[in-house]
Amino acid sequence: MAVIGFIGLGHMGGPMSANLVKAGHTVQGFDLVPAALEVAERHGVAVAESAVGAVTGADAVITMLPSGKHVLGCYDEILPAVAPGTLLIDSSTVDVADARRAHELAAEAGLPAVDAPVSGGTAGAEAGTLTFMVGGPEEAFRRAEPVLEPMARKVIHCGGPGNGQVTKMCNNLILGASMIAVSEAFVLGERLGLPHEALYDVASISTGQCWALTTNCPVPDLVETSRANHDYEPGFAAALMLKDLKLAASAAEQSGTDAAIGRLATELYQRFNDEGGGGYDFGAIINSIRAHSGE
Ligand code: NAD
Repeated sequence: MAVIGFIGLGHMGGPMSANLVKAGHTVQGFDLVPAALEVAERHGVAVAESAVGAVTGADAVITMLPSGKHVLGCYDEILPAVAPGTLLIDSSTVDVADARRAHELAAEAGLPAVDAPVSGGTAGAEAGTLTFMVGGPEEAFRRAEPVLEPMARKVIHCGGPGNGQVTKMCNNLILGASMIAVSEAFVLGERLGLPHEALYDVASISTGQCWALTTNCPVPDLVETSRANHDYEPGFAAALMLKDLKLAASAAEQSGTDAAIGRLATELYQRFNDEGGGGYDFGAIINSIRAHSGE
Protein backbone atom coordinates (compact mmCIF):
# COMPACT_ATOMS: atom_id res chain seq x y z
CA MET A 1 0.00 0.00 0.00
CA ALA A 2 1.19 3.49 -0.84
CA VAL A 3 1.45 6.83 0.93
CA ILE A 4 -0.55 9.35 -1.12
CA GLY A 5 -0.50 13.13 -0.72
CA PHE A 6 -3.90 14.57 -1.68
CA ILE A 7 -4.29 18.33 -2.19
CA GLY A 8 -7.79 19.75 -2.72
CA LEU A 9 -10.42 17.95 -0.65
CA GLY A 10 -13.54 19.60 -2.10
CA HIS A 11 -16.65 18.10 -3.70
CA MET A 12 -14.54 15.71 -5.77
CA GLY A 13 -11.30 15.39 -3.81
CA GLY A 14 -13.14 14.66 -0.53
CA PRO A 15 -14.84 11.43 -1.66
CA MET A 16 -11.91 10.45 -3.91
CA SER A 17 -9.48 10.58 -1.00
CA ALA A 18 -11.96 8.62 1.14
CA ASN A 19 -11.96 5.82 -1.46
CA LEU A 20 -8.15 5.69 -1.37
CA VAL A 21 -8.31 5.28 2.42
CA LYS A 22 -10.90 2.48 2.01
CA ALA A 23 -8.52 0.71 -0.37
CA GLY A 24 -5.89 0.64 2.39
CA HIS A 25 -3.63 3.51 1.32
CA THR A 26 -2.27 6.07 3.77
CA VAL A 27 -3.63 9.42 2.59
CA GLN A 28 -2.09 12.70 3.75
CA GLY A 29 -4.57 15.42 2.82
CA PHE A 30 -4.53 19.21 2.64
CA ASP A 31 -7.11 21.86 1.75
CA LEU A 32 -7.28 25.59 2.47
CA VAL A 33 -10.79 25.21 3.90
CA PRO A 34 -10.94 23.85 7.48
CA ALA A 35 -14.41 22.30 6.96
CA ALA A 36 -13.06 20.17 4.09
CA LEU A 37 -10.23 18.98 6.34
CA GLU A 38 -12.68 18.00 9.09
CA VAL A 39 -14.77 15.89 6.72
CA ALA A 40 -11.65 14.24 5.28
CA GLU A 41 -10.38 13.44 8.76
CA ARG A 42 -13.68 11.68 9.55
CA HIS A 43 -13.02 9.47 6.50
CA GLY A 44 -9.59 8.46 7.75
CA VAL A 45 -7.41 11.00 5.91
CA ALA A 46 -4.35 12.12 7.89
CA VAL A 47 -4.76 15.88 7.81
CA ALA A 48 -1.62 17.93 7.10
CA GLU A 49 -1.05 21.57 8.06
CA SER A 50 0.22 22.57 4.63
CA ALA A 51 0.55 21.30 1.08
CA VAL A 52 4.22 20.61 1.78
CA GLY A 53 3.22 18.57 4.85
CA ALA A 54 0.84 16.49 2.71
CA VAL A 55 3.51 15.56 0.15
CA THR A 56 6.30 14.78 2.61
CA GLY A 57 7.18 11.08 2.37
CA ALA A 58 4.50 10.43 -0.29
CA ASP A 59 4.91 7.89 -3.11
CA ALA A 60 2.35 9.77 -5.21
CA VAL A 61 0.72 13.20 -5.03
CA ILE A 62 -2.78 13.87 -6.36
CA THR A 63 -4.05 17.41 -6.91
CA MET A 64 -7.80 18.08 -7.32
CA LEU A 65 -7.97 21.88 -7.53
CA PRO A 66 -10.29 24.45 -9.15
CA SER A 67 -8.11 25.54 -12.10
CA GLY A 68 -4.69 25.54 -13.79
CA LYS A 69 -3.62 28.64 -11.87
CA HIS A 70 -4.13 26.75 -8.59
CA VAL A 71 -2.29 23.67 -9.85
CA LEU A 72 0.74 25.63 -11.08
CA GLY A 73 0.85 27.64 -7.83
CA CYS A 74 0.65 24.44 -5.83
CA TYR A 75 3.43 22.77 -7.90
CA ASP A 76 5.69 25.80 -7.30
CA GLU A 77 5.14 25.28 -3.58
CA ILE A 78 5.44 21.50 -3.32
CA LEU A 79 7.98 20.45 -5.97
CA PRO A 80 11.03 21.46 -3.91
CA ALA A 81 9.69 19.29 -1.05
CA VAL A 82 8.74 16.17 -3.01
CA ALA A 83 11.03 13.13 -2.71
CA PRO A 84 12.82 11.93 -5.88
CA GLY A 85 10.70 9.47 -7.87
CA THR A 86 7.37 10.68 -6.46
CA LEU A 87 4.59 10.38 -9.06
CA LEU A 88 2.54 13.56 -9.67
CA ILE A 89 -1.08 13.11 -10.73
CA ASP A 90 -3.17 16.18 -11.52
CA SER A 91 -6.86 15.27 -11.73
CA SER A 92 -8.17 18.86 -11.85
CA THR A 93 -9.79 20.05 -15.07
CA VAL A 94 -7.43 22.69 -16.45
CA ASP A 95 -6.43 24.46 -19.64
CA VAL A 96 -4.29 22.26 -21.92
CA ALA A 97 -1.48 24.86 -21.89
CA ASP A 98 -1.47 24.86 -18.06
CA ALA A 99 -1.46 21.04 -18.00
CA ARG A 100 1.55 20.99 -20.33
CA ARG A 101 3.28 23.64 -18.19
CA ALA A 102 2.69 21.43 -15.11
CA HIS A 103 4.35 18.53 -16.98
CA GLU A 104 7.32 20.81 -17.77
CA LEU A 105 7.69 21.81 -14.12
CA ALA A 106 7.62 18.14 -13.11
CA ALA A 107 10.20 17.25 -15.78
CA GLU A 108 12.48 20.10 -14.64
CA ALA A 109 12.26 18.64 -11.11
CA GLY A 110 13.00 15.14 -12.50
CA LEU A 111 9.59 13.80 -11.44
CA PRO A 112 7.21 11.50 -13.37
CA ALA A 113 3.81 13.10 -13.97
CA VAL A 114 0.41 12.56 -15.58
CA ASP A 115 -2.59 14.77 -16.16
CA ALA A 116 -5.63 12.67 -15.25
CA PRO A 117 -8.90 14.64 -15.33
CA VAL A 118 -12.10 12.79 -14.61
CA SER A 119 -15.62 12.35 -15.82
CA GLY A 120 -18.44 11.04 -13.62
CA GLY A 121 -19.14 13.95 -11.26
CA THR A 122 -19.58 13.83 -7.51
CA ALA A 123 -21.69 10.65 -7.73
CA GLY A 124 -18.82 8.90 -9.53
CA ALA A 125 -16.33 10.29 -7.01
CA GLU A 126 -18.39 8.86 -4.15
CA ALA A 127 -19.02 5.49 -5.78
CA GLY A 128 -15.42 5.10 -6.98
CA THR A 129 -16.62 4.86 -10.59
CA LEU A 130 -14.87 7.82 -12.25
CA THR A 131 -13.40 7.66 -15.74
CA PHE A 132 -9.81 8.91 -15.70
CA MET A 133 -8.41 10.31 -18.96
CA VAL A 134 -4.66 10.15 -18.61
CA GLY A 135 -1.96 12.08 -20.47
CA GLY A 136 1.74 11.44 -20.00
CA PRO A 137 4.55 8.98 -20.76
CA GLU A 138 3.71 5.25 -20.78
CA GLU A 139 5.83 4.53 -17.70
CA ALA A 140 4.13 7.25 -15.62
CA PHE A 141 0.73 5.95 -16.80
CA ARG A 142 1.62 2.40 -15.67
CA ARG A 143 2.51 3.74 -12.22
CA ALA A 144 -0.62 5.89 -12.02
CA GLU A 145 -3.04 3.08 -12.93
CA PRO A 146 -3.01 1.19 -9.58
CA VAL A 147 -3.16 4.48 -7.62
CA LEU A 148 -6.25 5.61 -9.54
CA GLU A 149 -7.94 2.20 -9.56
CA PRO A 150 -9.85 2.52 -6.20
CA MET A 151 -11.48 5.73 -7.52
CA ALA A 152 -12.16 4.48 -11.03
CA ARG A 153 -14.40 2.48 -13.28
CA LYS A 154 -12.00 3.08 -16.15
CA VAL A 155 -8.48 4.49 -16.51
CA ILE A 156 -7.64 5.28 -20.13
CA HIS A 157 -4.27 6.35 -21.52
CA CYS A 158 -4.98 9.09 -24.08
CA GLY A 159 -1.39 9.84 -25.15
CA GLY A 160 1.34 12.29 -24.19
CA PRO A 161 1.39 15.23 -21.73
CA GLY A 162 -1.88 17.23 -21.73
CA ASN A 163 -3.85 14.66 -23.75
CA GLY A 164 -6.00 13.76 -20.76
CA GLN A 165 -7.20 17.38 -20.67
CA VAL A 166 -7.72 17.44 -24.43
CA THR A 167 -9.90 14.33 -24.17
CA LYS A 168 -11.94 15.71 -21.28
CA MET A 169 -12.54 18.99 -23.09
CA CYS A 170 -13.60 17.27 -26.31
CA ASN A 171 -15.95 14.91 -24.44
CA ASN A 172 -17.60 17.81 -22.63
CA LEU A 173 -17.97 19.74 -25.86
CA ILE A 174 -20.07 16.81 -27.12
CA LEU A 175 -21.98 16.67 -23.82
CA GLY A 176 -22.77 20.41 -23.59
CA ALA A 177 -23.86 20.61 -27.23
CA SER A 178 -25.98 17.45 -26.99
CA MET A 179 -27.71 18.62 -23.79
CA ILE A 180 -28.69 21.86 -25.54
CA ALA A 181 -29.92 19.96 -28.62
CA VAL A 182 -31.99 17.54 -26.50
CA SER A 183 -33.46 20.46 -24.52
CA GLU A 184 -34.33 22.41 -27.68
CA ALA A 185 -36.01 19.32 -29.13
CA PHE A 186 -38.22 18.86 -26.03
CA VAL A 187 -39.19 22.56 -25.96
CA LEU A 188 -39.93 22.56 -29.70
CA GLY A 189 -42.04 19.41 -29.25
CA GLU A 190 -43.92 20.95 -26.31
CA ARG A 191 -44.78 24.04 -28.33
CA LEU A 192 -46.11 21.90 -31.18
CA GLY A 193 -48.21 19.69 -28.91
CA LEU A 194 -45.93 16.62 -28.72
CA PRO A 195 -46.02 14.75 -25.37
CA HIS A 196 -42.58 14.36 -23.74
CA GLU A 197 -43.07 10.58 -23.56
CA ALA A 198 -43.61 10.28 -27.31
CA LEU A 199 -40.39 12.10 -28.14
CA TYR A 200 -38.49 10.13 -25.49
CA ASP A 201 -39.84 6.74 -26.58
CA VAL A 202 -38.78 7.33 -30.18
CA ALA A 203 -35.52 9.31 -29.80
CA SER A 204 -34.15 7.04 -27.06
CA ILE A 205 -34.15 4.07 -29.45
CA SER A 206 -33.48 6.03 -32.62
CA THR A 207 -30.74 8.18 -34.08
CA GLY A 208 -31.27 10.96 -31.50
CA GLN A 209 -30.10 8.64 -28.72
CA CYS A 210 -27.36 10.12 -26.48
CA TRP A 211 -26.32 10.30 -22.80
CA ALA A 212 -28.00 13.70 -22.34
CA LEU A 213 -31.29 12.07 -23.33
CA THR A 214 -31.17 8.58 -21.84
CA THR A 215 -29.13 9.09 -18.64
CA ASN A 216 -29.65 12.72 -17.63
CA CYS A 217 -32.83 13.64 -19.50
CA PRO A 218 -33.57 17.38 -18.97
CA VAL A 219 -37.31 16.62 -18.61
CA PRO A 220 -38.32 15.03 -15.29
CA ASP A 221 -40.01 11.64 -14.77
CA LEU A 222 -38.71 9.92 -17.90
CA VAL A 223 -35.35 8.55 -16.74
CA GLU A 224 -34.63 7.35 -13.22
CA THR A 225 -31.04 8.67 -13.10
CA SER A 226 -31.90 12.19 -14.26
CA ARG A 227 -31.19 15.17 -12.00
CA ALA A 228 -34.36 16.76 -13.41
CA ASN A 229 -36.23 14.46 -11.00
CA HIS A 230 -34.49 16.24 -8.09
CA ASP A 231 -35.23 19.86 -9.01
CA TYR A 232 -31.98 19.90 -11.03
CA GLU A 233 -29.79 19.68 -7.96
CA PRO A 234 -26.37 18.72 -9.46
CA GLY A 235 -25.05 16.25 -10.71
CA PHE A 236 -22.79 18.22 -12.88
CA ALA A 237 -23.34 21.92 -12.24
CA ALA A 238 -23.96 24.31 -15.15
CA ALA A 239 -21.09 26.49 -13.86
CA LEU A 240 -18.68 23.57 -14.37
CA MET A 241 -20.11 22.87 -17.82
CA LEU A 242 -19.47 26.52 -18.68
CA LYS A 243 -15.90 26.22 -17.38
CA ASP A 244 -15.25 23.17 -19.60
CA LEU A 245 -16.89 24.72 -22.67
CA LYS A 246 -14.78 27.85 -22.26
CA LEU A 247 -11.65 25.67 -22.15
CA ALA A 248 -12.82 23.95 -25.35
CA ALA A 249 -13.74 27.23 -27.08
CA SER A 250 -10.41 28.81 -26.23
CA ALA A 251 -8.48 25.70 -27.36
CA ALA A 252 -10.50 25.69 -30.59
CA GLU A 253 -9.57 29.32 -31.20
CA GLN A 254 -5.89 28.76 -30.42
CA SER A 255 -5.70 25.72 -32.68
CA GLY A 256 -7.67 27.33 -35.52
CA THR A 257 -10.49 24.76 -35.24
CA ASP A 258 -13.83 25.78 -36.74
CA ALA A 259 -15.96 24.78 -33.71
CA ALA A 260 -19.10 26.88 -34.26
CA ILE A 261 -21.36 24.66 -32.13
CA GLY A 262 -18.82 24.78 -29.30
CA ARG A 263 -18.81 28.59 -29.41
CA LEU A 264 -22.61 28.73 -29.42
CA ALA A 265 -22.92 26.19 -26.59
CA THR A 266 -20.49 28.33 -24.56
CA GLU A 267 -22.65 31.43 -25.19
CA LEU A 268 -25.84 29.62 -24.14
CA TYR A 269 -24.30 28.23 -20.93
CA GLN A 270 -22.85 31.71 -20.24
CA ARG A 271 -26.36 33.19 -20.60
CA PHE A 272 -27.79 30.51 -18.28
CA ASN A 273 -25.06 31.21 -15.70
CA ASP A 274 -25.69 34.99 -15.95
CA GLU A 275 -29.37 34.27 -15.26
CA GLY A 276 -28.39 32.55 -11.99
CA GLY A 277 -28.44 28.94 -13.25
CA GLY A 278 -24.80 28.06 -12.48
CA GLY A 279 -25.58 26.11 -9.31
CA TYR A 280 -28.17 23.87 -10.98
CA ASP A 281 -27.49 20.70 -12.91
CA PHE A 282 -26.46 21.50 -16.50
CA GLY A 283 -29.71 19.86 -17.73
CA ALA A 284 -31.64 22.78 -16.22
CA ILE A 285 -30.66 24.78 -19.31
CA ILE A 286 -33.98 23.53 -20.72
CA ASN A 287 -35.70 26.07 -18.43
CA SER A 288 -33.64 28.90 -19.91
CA ILE A 289 -34.52 27.75 -23.43
CA ARG A 290 -38.22 27.71 -22.43
CA ALA A 291 -37.94 31.16 -20.86
CA HIS A 292 -36.38 32.61 -24.03
CA SER A 293 -38.93 30.96 -26.32
CA GLY A 294 -41.62 33.63 -25.90
CA GLU A 295 -45.38 33.23 -25.89
P1 NAD B 1 -14.22 22.31 -5.17
O1 NAD B 1 -14.17 23.78 -5.29
O2 NAD B 1 -15.32 21.67 -4.40
O3 NAD B 1 -12.82 21.76 -4.57
C1 NAD B 1 -11.58 22.35 -4.81
C2 NAD B 1 -10.87 22.44 -3.47
O4 NAD B 1 -9.54 22.92 -3.66
C3 NAD B 1 -11.55 23.41 -2.49
O5 NAD B 1 -11.92 22.71 -1.32
C4 NAD B 1 -10.47 24.48 -2.23
O6 NAD B 1 -10.48 24.95 -0.90
C5 NAD B 1 -9.21 23.68 -2.53
N1 NAD B 1 -8.05 24.51 -2.83
C6 NAD B 1 -7.94 25.55 -3.68
N2 NAD B 1 -6.66 25.99 -3.70
C7 NAD B 1 -5.96 25.20 -2.86
C8 NAD B 1 -4.59 25.15 -2.45
N3 NAD B 1 -3.67 26.01 -2.93
N4 NAD B 1 -4.21 24.20 -1.56
C9 NAD B 1 -5.13 23.34 -1.07
N5 NAD B 1 -6.44 23.32 -1.41
C10 NAD B 1 -6.84 24.25 -2.29
O7 NAD B 1 -14.19 21.75 -6.68
P2 NAD B 1 -14.56 20.27 -7.16
O8 NAD B 1 -15.98 20.24 -7.61
O9 NAD B 1 -14.06 19.29 -6.15
O10 NAD B 1 -13.69 20.21 -8.51
C11 NAD B 1 -12.28 20.01 -8.46
C12 NAD B 1 -11.79 19.87 -9.88
O11 NAD B 1 -12.45 18.76 -10.51
C13 NAD B 1 -12.09 21.09 -10.77
O12 NAD B 1 -10.99 21.30 -11.61
C14 NAD B 1 -13.34 20.67 -11.53
O13 NAD B 1 -13.46 21.32 -12.78
C15 NAD B 1 -13.09 19.17 -11.70
N6 NAD B 1 -14.31 18.36 -11.87
C16 NAD B 1 -15.39 18.56 -11.07
C17 NAD B 1 -16.52 17.77 -11.25
C18 NAD B 1 -17.74 17.95 -10.38
O14 NAD B 1 -18.80 17.39 -10.72
N7 NAD B 1 -17.66 18.67 -9.27
C19 NAD B 1 -16.55 16.78 -12.23
C20 NAD B 1 -15.41 16.57 -13.01
C21 NAD B 1 -14.28 17.38 -12.82
